[in-house]
Amino acid sequence: MKKVPQYIAGEFAQSQTENWIDVTNPATNEVIAQVPCATTDEMRQAIDNAGEVFKSWKETPISERARVMLRYQALLKEHHDEIAEILSQETGKTFDDAKGDVWRGIEVVEHAANVASMMMGETVENVAREVDTHSWIQPLGVCAGITPFNFPAMIPLWMFPMAIACGNTFILKPSEQDPLTPMRLAELFEEAGAPKGVLQVVHGAKEQVDTLLNDPAIKAISFVGSVPVGRYIYETGTRNMKRVQSFAGAKNHMVIMPDADKQQVLNALVGASVGAAGQRCMAISVAVFVGAAQEWIPELKEAMAKVRPGAWNDSGASYGPVISAKAKERVESLIATGEAQGAKLMLDGRGCTVEGFPDGHWVGPTLFSEVTTEMDIYNEEIFGPVLCCMNADSLGDAIELINNSPYGNGTSIFTNHGGAARRFQHEIEVGQVGVNIPIPVPLPFFSFTGWKGSFYGDQHAYGKQAVRFYTETKTVTSRWFNSEATSSEANFSIQLR
Ligand code: NAD
Repeated sequence: MKKVPQYIAGEFAQSQTENWIDVTNPATNEVIAQVPCATTDEMRQAIDNAGEVFKSWKETPISERARVMLRYQALLKEHHDEIAEILSQETGKTFDDAKGDVWRGIEVVEHAANVASMMMGETVENVAREVDTHSWIQPLGVCAGITPFNFPAMIPLWMFPMAIACGNTFILKPSEQDPLTPMRLAELFEEAGAPKGVLQVVHGAKEQVDTLLNDPAIKAISFVGSVPVGRYIYETGTRNMKRVQSFAGAKNHMVIMPDADKQQVLNALVGASVGAAGQRCMAISVAVFVGAAQEWIPELKEAMAKVRPGAWNDSGASYGPVISAKAKERVESLIATGEAQGAKLMLDGRGCTVEGFPDGHWVGPTLFSEVTTEMDIYNEEIFGPVLCCMNADSLGDAIELINNSPYGNGTSIFTNHGGAARRFQHEIEVGQVGVNIPIPVPLPFFSFTGWKGSFYGDQHAYGKQAVRFYTETKTVTSRWFNSEATSSEANFSIQLR
Protein backbone atom coordinates (compact mmCIF):
# COMPACT_ATOMS: atom_id res chain seq x y z
CA MET A 1 0.00 0.00 0.00
CA LYS A 2 1.37 3.42 -0.96
CA LYS A 3 2.09 5.50 2.13
CA VAL A 4 1.91 9.24 1.47
CA PRO A 5 5.07 11.01 2.70
CA GLN A 6 5.22 14.38 4.45
CA TYR A 7 7.53 17.21 3.43
CA ILE A 8 9.21 18.42 6.59
CA ALA A 9 12.49 20.33 6.88
CA GLY A 10 13.10 19.78 3.18
CA GLU A 11 12.77 15.98 3.25
CA PHE A 12 10.02 13.84 1.75
CA ALA A 13 9.83 11.26 4.52
CA GLN A 14 7.42 8.72 5.92
CA SER A 15 5.64 9.56 9.15
CA GLN A 16 6.38 7.57 12.31
CA THR A 17 2.72 7.69 13.30
CA GLU A 18 0.54 4.65 13.89
CA ASN A 19 -2.50 6.59 12.83
CA TRP A 20 -3.20 6.32 9.06
CA ILE A 21 -6.25 7.32 7.02
CA ASP A 22 -7.29 5.51 3.80
CA VAL A 23 -7.36 7.50 0.57
CA THR A 24 -9.86 6.01 -1.88
CA ASN A 25 -10.62 6.34 -5.56
CA PRO A 26 -14.27 7.50 -5.46
CA ALA A 27 -15.08 5.81 -8.78
CA THR A 28 -14.07 2.36 -7.53
CA ASN A 29 -14.01 2.75 -3.73
CA GLU A 30 -10.58 1.10 -3.89
CA VAL A 31 -8.00 2.24 -1.30
CA ILE A 32 -5.18 3.77 -3.35
CA ALA A 33 -2.96 5.11 -0.55
CA GLN A 34 -2.77 5.83 3.15
CA VAL A 35 -2.12 9.25 4.58
CA PRO A 36 -0.58 9.77 8.03
CA CYS A 37 -1.77 11.91 10.93
CA ALA A 38 1.46 13.74 11.77
CA THR A 39 2.86 13.09 15.25
CA THR A 40 3.38 15.90 17.76
CA ASP A 41 7.13 15.72 17.11
CA GLU A 42 6.67 15.94 13.35
CA MET A 43 4.41 18.99 13.72
CA ARG A 44 7.00 20.59 16.02
CA GLN A 45 9.79 19.90 13.54
CA ALA A 46 7.82 21.44 10.66
CA ILE A 47 6.94 24.59 12.62
CA ASP A 48 10.46 25.05 14.03
CA ASN A 49 12.15 24.47 10.69
CA ALA A 50 9.76 26.86 8.92
CA GLY A 51 10.65 29.48 11.55
CA GLU A 52 14.39 28.91 11.06
CA VAL A 53 14.21 29.01 7.25
CA PHE A 54 12.14 32.22 7.38
CA LYS A 55 15.23 34.08 8.66
CA SER A 56 17.09 33.48 5.40
CA TRP A 57 14.14 33.38 2.99
CA LYS A 58 12.97 36.86 3.94
CA GLU A 59 16.46 38.15 3.10
CA THR A 60 16.41 36.49 -0.33
CA PRO A 61 16.10 39.20 -3.03
CA ILE A 62 12.57 39.60 -4.28
CA SER A 63 13.55 38.86 -7.89
CA GLU A 64 15.08 35.56 -6.80
CA ARG A 65 11.85 34.68 -4.99
CA ALA A 66 9.89 35.66 -8.13
CA ARG A 67 12.16 33.53 -10.34
CA VAL A 68 11.28 30.42 -8.30
CA MET A 69 7.65 31.11 -9.25
CA LEU A 70 8.56 31.53 -12.93
CA ARG A 71 10.32 28.16 -12.96
CA TYR A 72 7.47 26.63 -10.96
CA GLN A 73 4.77 27.74 -13.40
CA ALA A 74 6.80 26.32 -16.30
CA LEU A 75 7.18 22.98 -14.49
CA LEU A 76 3.49 22.85 -13.60
CA LYS A 77 2.62 23.41 -17.26
CA GLU A 78 5.08 20.71 -18.33
CA HIS A 79 3.47 18.27 -15.85
CA HIS A 80 -0.10 19.51 -16.34
CA ASP A 81 -1.51 16.22 -17.69
CA GLU A 82 0.36 14.09 -15.17
CA ILE A 83 -0.90 16.14 -12.18
CA ALA A 84 -4.43 16.11 -13.61
CA GLU A 85 -4.33 12.32 -13.85
CA ILE A 86 -3.29 11.97 -10.19
CA LEU A 87 -6.03 14.44 -9.29
CA SER A 88 -8.64 12.51 -11.29
CA GLN A 89 -7.76 9.25 -9.53
CA GLU A 90 -8.22 10.61 -6.03
CA THR A 91 -11.14 13.00 -6.60
CA GLY A 92 -12.99 11.23 -9.42
CA LYS A 93 -13.04 14.44 -11.52
CA THR A 94 -13.14 14.05 -15.29
CA PHE A 95 -9.76 14.61 -16.91
CA ASP A 96 -10.82 17.95 -18.44
CA ASP A 97 -12.15 19.22 -15.15
CA ALA A 98 -9.00 18.04 -13.35
CA LYS A 99 -6.92 19.96 -15.88
CA GLY A 100 -9.00 23.05 -15.12
CA ASP A 101 -8.34 22.59 -11.39
CA VAL A 102 -4.57 22.59 -12.06
CA TRP A 103 -4.77 25.43 -14.57
CA ARG A 104 -6.55 27.84 -12.21
CA GLY A 105 -3.70 27.19 -9.77
CA ILE A 106 -1.03 27.79 -12.42
CA GLU A 107 -2.57 31.20 -13.07
CA VAL A 108 -1.96 32.14 -9.43
CA VAL A 109 1.68 31.01 -9.66
CA GLU A 110 2.11 33.22 -12.74
CA HIS A 111 0.67 36.09 -10.78
CA ALA A 112 2.93 35.39 -7.78
CA ALA A 113 5.91 35.90 -10.12
CA ASN A 114 4.85 39.59 -10.26
CA VAL A 115 5.20 39.94 -6.54
CA ALA A 116 7.65 42.85 -6.63
CA SER A 117 5.14 45.20 -8.20
CA MET A 118 2.59 44.23 -5.51
CA MET A 119 5.03 44.76 -2.63
CA MET A 120 5.93 48.33 -3.47
CA GLY A 121 5.42 50.69 -0.58
CA GLU A 122 4.66 54.40 -0.72
CA THR A 123 6.83 57.50 -0.34
CA VAL A 124 6.07 61.10 0.49
CA GLU A 125 8.88 63.60 0.48
CA ASN A 126 8.87 66.60 2.84
CA VAL A 127 6.14 65.51 5.24
CA ALA A 128 7.79 68.20 7.37
CA ARG A 129 10.82 70.36 6.70
CA GLU A 130 13.54 67.92 5.49
CA VAL A 131 11.54 64.99 6.76
CA ASP A 132 10.46 62.14 4.45
CA THR A 133 8.20 59.16 5.01
CA HIS A 134 8.23 55.85 3.18
CA SER A 135 6.57 52.52 3.79
CA TRP A 136 7.88 49.01 3.26
CA ILE A 137 5.86 45.84 2.87
CA GLN A 138 7.45 43.02 4.85
CA PRO A 139 6.56 39.33 5.27
CA LEU A 140 4.93 38.03 8.47
CA GLY A 141 6.85 34.82 9.23
CA VAL A 142 5.44 31.30 9.25
CA CYS A 143 2.01 31.06 7.62
CA ALA A 144 -0.21 27.96 7.42
CA GLY A 145 -2.89 26.73 5.01
CA ILE A 146 -5.66 24.18 5.58
CA THR A 147 -7.36 23.08 2.38
CA PRO A 148 -10.52 21.16 1.33
CA PHE A 149 -10.92 18.08 -0.86
CA ASN A 150 -12.70 19.66 -3.79
CA PHE A 151 -9.80 21.53 -5.45
CA PRO A 152 -6.62 19.74 -4.34
CA ALA A 153 -4.44 21.65 -6.84
CA MET A 154 -6.07 25.07 -7.19
CA ILE A 155 -6.65 25.86 -3.53
CA PRO A 156 -3.18 24.99 -2.17
CA LEU A 157 -1.89 27.07 -5.13
CA TRP A 158 -4.10 30.00 -4.09
CA MET A 159 -2.09 30.05 -0.89
CA PHE A 160 1.55 28.97 -0.74
CA PRO A 161 2.92 30.63 -3.93
CA MET A 162 1.57 34.03 -2.84
CA ALA A 163 2.68 33.66 0.78
CA ILE A 164 6.15 32.40 -0.16
CA ALA A 165 6.71 34.98 -2.92
CA CYS A 166 6.01 37.62 -0.26
CA GLY A 167 8.94 36.21 1.77
CA ASN A 168 7.08 33.99 4.25
CA THR A 169 7.55 30.30 4.86
CA PHE A 170 4.45 28.10 4.66
CA ILE A 171 3.03 24.93 6.23
CA LEU A 172 0.30 23.24 4.20
CA LYS A 173 -2.15 20.76 5.74
CA PRO A 174 -4.06 19.45 2.71
CA SER A 175 -7.31 17.51 2.82
CA GLU A 176 -6.79 13.97 4.06
CA GLN A 177 -9.20 12.80 1.32
CA ASP A 178 -6.91 13.68 -1.62
CA PRO A 179 -3.32 14.35 -0.49
CA LEU A 180 -1.53 12.89 -3.55
CA THR A 181 -2.02 15.96 -5.76
CA PRO A 182 -0.66 18.45 -3.17
CA MET A 183 2.38 16.19 -2.62
CA ARG A 184 3.15 16.26 -6.34
CA LEU A 185 2.82 20.06 -6.24
CA ALA A 186 5.36 20.12 -3.39
CA GLU A 187 7.84 17.89 -5.28
CA LEU A 188 7.69 20.18 -8.30
CA PHE A 189 8.13 23.23 -6.06
CA GLU A 190 11.40 21.82 -4.78
CA GLU A 191 12.41 20.96 -8.36
CA ALA A 192 11.72 24.60 -9.29
CA GLY A 193 14.47 25.64 -6.92
CA ALA A 194 12.53 26.56 -3.78
CA PRO A 195 14.99 26.23 -0.89
CA LYS A 196 14.33 23.39 1.53
CA GLY A 197 11.99 24.29 4.36
CA VAL A 198 10.31 27.23 2.62
CA LEU A 199 7.29 24.95 2.07
CA GLN A 200 6.40 22.15 4.47
CA VAL A 201 3.51 19.70 4.02
CA VAL A 202 2.07 17.90 7.04
CA HIS A 203 -0.93 15.58 7.01
CA GLY A 204 -3.79 14.80 9.34
CA ALA A 205 -7.11 16.14 10.51
CA LYS A 206 -8.47 18.14 13.49
CA GLU A 207 -5.60 17.41 15.89
CA GLN A 208 -2.94 18.63 13.44
CA VAL A 209 -5.03 21.68 12.51
CA ASP A 210 -5.40 22.51 16.20
CA THR A 211 -1.62 22.45 16.60
CA LEU A 212 -1.32 25.04 13.82
CA LEU A 213 -4.13 27.15 15.33
CA ASN A 214 -2.56 27.19 18.78
CA ASP A 215 1.15 27.48 18.09
CA PRO A 216 2.38 31.05 18.66
CA ALA A 217 5.01 30.68 15.91
CA ILE A 218 2.26 30.60 13.23
CA LYS A 219 1.42 34.16 12.29
CA ALA A 220 -1.38 33.69 9.76
CA ILE A 221 -3.86 30.98 8.82
CA SER A 222 -5.57 30.55 5.44
CA PHE A 223 -8.48 28.11 5.48
CA VAL A 224 -10.89 26.86 2.82
CA GLY A 225 -13.61 24.34 3.70
CA SER A 226 -17.05 23.89 5.22
CA VAL A 227 -18.99 26.42 7.29
CA PRO A 228 -18.71 24.85 10.78
CA VAL A 229 -14.98 24.22 10.42
CA GLY A 230 -14.46 27.66 8.85
CA ARG A 231 -16.12 29.37 11.81
CA TYR A 232 -14.11 27.27 14.27
CA ILE A 233 -10.84 28.12 12.49
CA TYR A 234 -11.64 31.84 12.43
CA GLU A 235 -12.73 31.95 16.08
CA THR A 236 -9.79 29.89 17.38
CA GLY A 237 -7.14 31.52 15.20
CA THR A 238 -8.19 35.08 16.00
CA ARG A 239 -8.56 34.23 19.71
CA ASN A 240 -4.91 33.21 19.50
CA MET A 241 -4.17 36.64 17.97
CA LYS A 242 -3.41 35.32 14.48
CA ARG A 243 -4.39 36.78 11.18
CA VAL A 244 -7.07 34.49 9.68
CA GLN A 245 -8.81 34.30 6.30
CA SER A 246 -11.47 31.61 6.28
CA PHE A 247 -13.36 30.70 3.10
CA ALA A 248 -16.43 28.61 3.83
CA GLY A 249 -19.51 27.04 2.25
CA ALA A 250 -22.00 28.53 -0.14
CA LYS A 251 -25.41 28.43 -1.79
CA ASN A 252 -25.18 30.24 -5.11
CA HIS A 253 -28.22 31.56 -6.98
CA MET A 254 -28.53 32.26 -10.69
CA VAL A 255 -31.29 34.66 -11.75
CA ILE A 256 -32.90 34.03 -15.13
CA MET A 257 -34.74 36.97 -16.67
CA PRO A 258 -37.36 36.24 -19.36
CA ASP A 259 -35.37 38.29 -21.91
CA ALA A 260 -32.26 36.09 -21.56
CA ASP A 261 -30.97 33.84 -24.34
CA LYS A 262 -32.73 30.54 -23.50
CA GLN A 263 -30.12 28.18 -24.93
CA GLN A 264 -27.30 30.00 -23.10
CA VAL A 265 -29.33 29.75 -19.87
CA LEU A 266 -29.90 26.00 -20.26
CA ASN A 267 -26.22 25.31 -21.09
CA ALA A 268 -25.04 27.44 -18.18
CA LEU A 269 -27.41 25.89 -15.65
CA VAL A 270 -26.57 22.29 -16.54
CA GLY A 271 -22.79 22.83 -16.48
CA ALA A 272 -22.71 25.03 -13.38
CA SER A 273 -24.98 22.80 -11.28
CA VAL A 274 -23.76 19.28 -12.03
CA GLY A 275 -20.17 19.99 -13.16
CA ALA A 276 -17.66 18.41 -10.73
CA ALA A 277 -20.70 16.54 -9.33
CA GLY A 278 -21.82 19.86 -7.82
CA GLN A 279 -18.81 19.84 -5.50
CA ARG A 280 -17.72 23.41 -6.19
CA CYS A 281 -18.07 26.28 -3.76
CA MET A 282 -19.15 28.39 -6.76
CA ALA A 283 -21.57 25.77 -8.19
CA ILE A 284 -25.02 27.10 -9.03
CA SER A 285 -27.39 25.27 -6.70
CA VAL A 286 -30.45 27.53 -6.96
CA ALA A 287 -31.99 28.78 -10.23
CA VAL A 288 -34.38 31.71 -9.74
CA PHE A 289 -36.70 32.04 -12.74
CA VAL A 290 -38.25 35.49 -13.03
CA GLY A 291 -41.78 35.70 -14.52
CA ALA A 292 -42.24 33.87 -17.81
CA ALA A 293 -38.72 32.39 -17.68
CA GLN A 294 -40.18 29.60 -15.52
CA GLU A 295 -41.72 28.12 -18.67
CA TRP A 296 -38.20 26.88 -19.53
CA ILE A 297 -38.04 24.45 -16.58
CA PRO A 298 -39.32 21.42 -18.60
CA GLU A 299 -36.57 22.05 -21.20
CA LEU A 300 -34.03 22.33 -18.39
CA LYS A 301 -35.15 18.91 -17.21
CA GLU A 302 -34.63 17.49 -20.72
CA ALA A 303 -31.14 19.01 -20.92
CA MET A 304 -30.15 17.69 -17.49
CA ALA A 305 -31.51 14.22 -18.25
CA LYS A 306 -29.01 13.92 -21.13
CA VAL A 307 -26.05 14.32 -18.80
CA ARG A 308 -24.44 11.42 -16.95
CA PRO A 309 -21.56 10.79 -14.58
CA GLY A 310 -18.68 8.44 -15.37
CA ALA A 311 -15.05 7.57 -14.80
CA TRP A 312 -12.35 10.22 -15.19
CA ASN A 313 -11.24 8.95 -18.63
CA ASP A 314 -14.73 8.31 -20.02
CA SER A 315 -15.05 10.99 -22.70
CA GLY A 316 -18.86 10.74 -22.66
CA ALA A 317 -19.12 11.57 -18.95
CA SER A 318 -19.91 15.12 -17.88
CA TYR A 319 -18.78 14.67 -14.30
CA GLY A 320 -17.46 12.09 -11.84
CA PRO A 321 -18.60 10.52 -8.57
CA VAL A 322 -18.98 12.43 -5.30
CA ILE A 323 -15.96 12.12 -3.04
CA SER A 324 -17.04 9.36 -0.62
CA ALA A 325 -19.76 6.91 0.37
CA LYS A 326 -20.62 9.28 3.23
CA ALA A 327 -21.00 12.23 0.82
CA LYS A 328 -23.29 10.14 -1.45
CA GLU A 329 -25.43 9.08 1.51
CA ARG A 330 -25.76 12.71 2.64
CA VAL A 331 -26.74 13.97 -0.84
CA GLU A 332 -29.29 11.16 -1.29
CA SER A 333 -30.78 11.79 2.13
CA LEU A 334 -31.18 15.51 1.34
CA ILE A 335 -32.96 14.56 -1.92
CA ALA A 336 -35.38 12.42 0.15
CA THR A 337 -35.92 15.33 2.55
CA GLY A 338 -36.61 17.70 -0.34
CA GLU A 339 -39.31 15.38 -1.64
CA ALA A 340 -40.78 14.87 1.84
CA GLN A 341 -40.90 18.63 2.44
CA GLY A 342 -42.97 19.17 -0.71
CA ALA A 343 -40.55 20.16 -3.47
CA LYS A 344 -41.32 18.67 -6.90
CA LEU A 345 -38.62 16.12 -7.76
CA MET A 346 -38.42 16.39 -11.57
CA LEU A 347 -35.24 14.33 -12.00
CA ASP A 348 -34.02 11.91 -9.34
CA GLY A 349 -30.31 11.05 -9.27
CA ARG A 350 -30.55 8.52 -6.44
CA GLY A 351 -29.57 4.93 -7.10
CA CYS A 352 -27.43 5.95 -10.08
CA THR A 353 -25.11 3.26 -11.48
CA VAL A 354 -22.24 3.36 -13.93
CA GLU A 355 -21.38 0.24 -15.90
CA GLY A 356 -18.08 -1.30 -14.84
CA PHE A 357 -17.94 0.74 -11.60
CA PRO A 358 -20.39 -0.94 -9.22
CA ASP A 359 -18.77 0.53 -6.09
CA GLY A 360 -18.44 4.16 -7.25
CA HIS A 361 -20.16 6.98 -5.38
CA TRP A 362 -22.43 8.00 -8.26
CA VAL A 363 -25.29 10.47 -8.04
CA GLY A 364 -27.23 11.28 -11.18
CA PRO A 365 -28.33 14.81 -12.15
CA THR A 366 -31.17 15.86 -9.86
CA LEU A 367 -33.69 18.63 -10.45
CA PHE A 368 -36.22 20.06 -8.03
CA SER A 369 -38.83 22.71 -8.81
CA GLU A 370 -41.28 24.51 -6.50
CA VAL A 371 -38.57 24.88 -3.86
CA THR A 372 -39.25 27.31 -1.02
CA THR A 373 -37.01 29.05 1.51
CA GLU A 374 -38.19 26.86 4.42
CA MET A 375 -36.92 23.63 2.87
CA ASP A 376 -33.66 21.94 3.90
CA ILE A 377 -32.63 21.57 0.24
CA TYR A 378 -32.72 25.38 0.03
CA ASN A 379 -30.95 26.09 3.31
CA GLU A 380 -28.21 23.44 3.30
CA GLU A 381 -25.22 23.29 1.01
CA ILE A 382 -25.94 19.94 -0.70
CA PHE A 383 -22.56 19.68 -2.47
CA GLY A 384 -23.93 17.24 -5.02
CA PRO A 385 -25.33 17.43 -8.61
CA VAL A 386 -28.66 18.84 -7.42
CA LEU A 387 -30.32 21.99 -8.76
CA CYS A 388 -33.25 23.69 -6.98
CA CYS A 389 -35.60 25.84 -9.07
CA MET A 390 -37.55 28.72 -7.58
CA ASN A 391 -39.79 31.39 -9.06
CA ALA A 392 -39.80 35.15 -8.49
CA ASP A 393 -42.32 37.69 -9.74
CA SER A 394 -39.76 40.40 -10.38
CA LEU A 395 -36.05 41.14 -10.38
CA GLY A 396 -36.55 43.02 -7.10
CA ASP A 397 -38.02 39.88 -5.50
CA ALA A 398 -35.09 37.78 -6.79
CA ILE A 399 -32.58 40.25 -5.35
CA GLU A 400 -34.38 40.25 -2.00
CA LEU A 401 -34.35 36.43 -1.90
CA ILE A 402 -30.59 36.31 -2.53
CA ASN A 403 -29.82 39.12 -0.10
CA ASN A 404 -31.69 37.21 2.63
CA SER A 405 -29.45 34.17 2.15
CA PRO A 406 -26.78 33.84 4.85
CA TYR A 407 -24.21 32.99 2.15
CA GLY A 408 -22.56 35.33 -0.33
CA ASN A 409 -19.94 33.49 -2.39
CA GLY A 410 -21.16 33.80 -5.97
CA THR A 411 -24.24 34.68 -8.00
CA SER A 412 -25.15 35.48 -11.56
CA ILE A 413 -27.84 36.98 -13.72
CA PHE A 414 -28.75 35.98 -17.26
CA THR A 415 -30.40 38.81 -19.18
CA ASN A 416 -30.11 40.92 -22.31
CA HIS A 417 -31.19 44.06 -20.45
CA GLY A 418 -28.32 46.32 -19.40
CA GLY A 419 -30.44 48.10 -16.83
CA ALA A 420 -31.43 44.86 -15.10
CA ALA A 421 -27.82 43.67 -15.08
CA ARG A 422 -26.64 47.01 -13.69
CA ARG A 423 -29.23 46.99 -10.91
CA PHE A 424 -28.38 43.39 -10.01
CA GLN A 425 -24.62 44.08 -9.76
CA HIS A 426 -25.22 47.15 -7.66
CA GLU A 427 -27.80 45.84 -5.20
CA ILE A 428 -26.78 42.24 -4.72
CA GLU A 429 -25.05 41.40 -1.42
CA VAL A 430 -22.73 38.74 -2.79
CA GLY A 431 -18.99 39.04 -3.32
CA GLN A 432 -18.65 37.59 -6.85
CA VAL A 433 -21.19 38.43 -9.53
CA GLY A 434 -21.52 37.10 -13.07
CA VAL A 435 -23.47 38.74 -15.88
CA ASN A 436 -24.29 35.98 -18.37
CA ILE A 437 -21.41 34.03 -16.73
CA PRO A 438 -22.63 31.34 -14.29
CA ILE A 439 -19.42 30.77 -12.29
CA PRO A 440 -17.65 34.13 -12.03
CA VAL A 441 -14.36 33.10 -10.37
CA PRO A 442 -12.01 36.07 -10.80
CA LEU A 443 -8.55 35.74 -12.32
CA PRO A 444 -5.62 36.24 -9.93
CA PHE A 445 -5.04 39.94 -10.68
CA PHE A 446 -8.33 40.37 -8.82
CA SER A 447 -9.03 38.43 -5.63
CA PHE A 448 -11.51 35.67 -4.69
CA THR A 449 -14.01 37.71 -2.73
CA GLY A 450 -16.81 35.73 -1.06
CA TRP A 451 -19.02 37.64 1.41
CA LYS A 452 -21.26 37.04 4.44
CA GLY A 453 -21.34 33.44 5.77
CA SER A 454 -19.08 32.29 2.90
CA PHE A 455 -16.05 34.17 4.24
CA TYR A 456 -14.71 35.18 7.62
CA GLY A 457 -11.89 37.71 7.63
CA ASP A 458 -10.87 40.90 5.85
CA GLN A 459 -8.36 40.20 3.09
CA HIS A 460 -9.32 37.65 0.45
CA ALA A 461 -7.42 35.00 -1.53
CA TYR A 462 -4.75 35.64 -4.17
CA GLY A 463 -4.16 38.94 -5.99
CA LYS A 464 -3.41 42.18 -4.16
CA GLN A 465 -5.52 41.22 -1.17
CA ALA A 466 -3.39 38.11 -0.56
CA VAL A 467 -0.27 40.28 -0.54
CA ARG A 468 -1.90 42.46 2.13
CA PHE A 469 -2.90 39.36 4.08
CA TYR A 470 0.58 37.81 4.04
CA THR A 471 2.49 41.03 4.82
CA GLU A 472 2.89 43.80 7.33
CA THR A 473 3.40 47.48 6.47
CA LYS A 474 6.25 49.35 8.12
CA THR A 475 6.24 53.14 7.88
CA VAL A 476 9.57 54.95 8.26
CA THR A 477 9.85 58.68 8.90
CA SER A 478 13.39 60.06 8.57
CA ARG A 479 15.29 63.33 8.83
CA TRP A 480 18.90 63.87 7.76
CA PHE A 481 20.71 66.82 9.32
CA ASN A 482 22.33 68.45 6.29
CA SER A 483 20.89 71.90 6.54
CA GLU A 484 22.46 74.89 8.18
CA ALA A 485 18.93 75.91 9.05
CA THR A 486 18.49 72.95 11.42
CA SER A 487 17.03 74.19 14.67
CA SER A 488 19.07 73.67 17.81
CA GLU A 489 16.02 73.81 20.08
CA ALA A 490 14.32 70.76 21.61
CA ASN A 491 10.81 70.08 20.32
CA PHE A 492 8.34 69.06 23.02
CA SER A 493 5.31 68.73 20.79
CA ILE A 494 4.43 65.65 18.75
CA GLN A 495 4.12 67.76 15.63
CA LEU A 496 6.78 67.40 12.92
CA ARG A 497 8.16 70.73 11.69
P1 NAD B 1 -14.00 20.39 5.52
O1 NAD B 1 -14.35 21.60 6.30
O2 NAD B 1 -14.56 19.09 5.94
O3 NAD B 1 -12.39 20.19 5.51
C1 NAD B 1 -11.52 21.24 5.14
C2 NAD B 1 -10.20 21.07 5.89
O4 NAD B 1 -10.42 21.21 7.30
C3 NAD B 1 -9.54 19.73 5.68
O5 NAD B 1 -8.15 19.91 5.53
C4 NAD B 1 -9.86 18.96 6.96
O6 NAD B 1 -8.85 18.04 7.33
C5 NAD B 1 -9.94 20.07 8.00
N1 NAD B 1 -10.91 19.78 9.07
C6 NAD B 1 -12.03 19.03 8.98
N2 NAD B 1 -12.69 19.01 10.16
C7 NAD B 1 -11.96 19.76 11.01
C8 NAD B 1 -12.14 20.15 12.39
N3 NAD B 1 -13.19 19.73 13.10
N4 NAD B 1 -11.20 20.95 12.95
C9 NAD B 1 -10.14 21.38 12.24
N5 NAD B 1 -9.94 21.05 10.94
C10 NAD B 1 -10.83 20.26 10.33
O7 NAD B 1 -14.36 20.72 3.99
P2 NAD B 1 -14.34 19.74 2.74
O8 NAD B 1 -15.50 18.80 2.84
O9 NAD B 1 -12.99 19.18 2.52
O10 NAD B 1 -14.60 20.79 1.54
C11 NAD B 1 -15.89 21.14 1.08
C12 NAD B 1 -16.33 22.47 1.65
O11 NAD B 1 -15.40 23.49 1.30
C13 NAD B 1 -17.66 22.95 1.08
O12 NAD B 1 -18.44 23.47 2.13
C14 NAD B 1 -17.27 24.04 0.10
O13 NAD B 1 -18.25 25.02 -0.14
C15 NAD B 1 -16.10 24.62 0.79
N6 NAD B 1 -15.27 25.36 -0.14
C16 NAD B 1 -15.28 26.73 -0.07
C17 NAD B 1 -14.54 27.47 -0.96
C18 NAD B 1 -14.56 28.97 -0.92
O14 NAD B 1 -13.73 29.56 -1.57
N7 NAD B 1 -15.45 29.60 -0.19
C19 NAD B 1 -13.76 26.82 -1.93
C20 NAD B 1 -13.75 25.42 -1.96
C21 NAD B 1 -14.51 24.70 -1.05
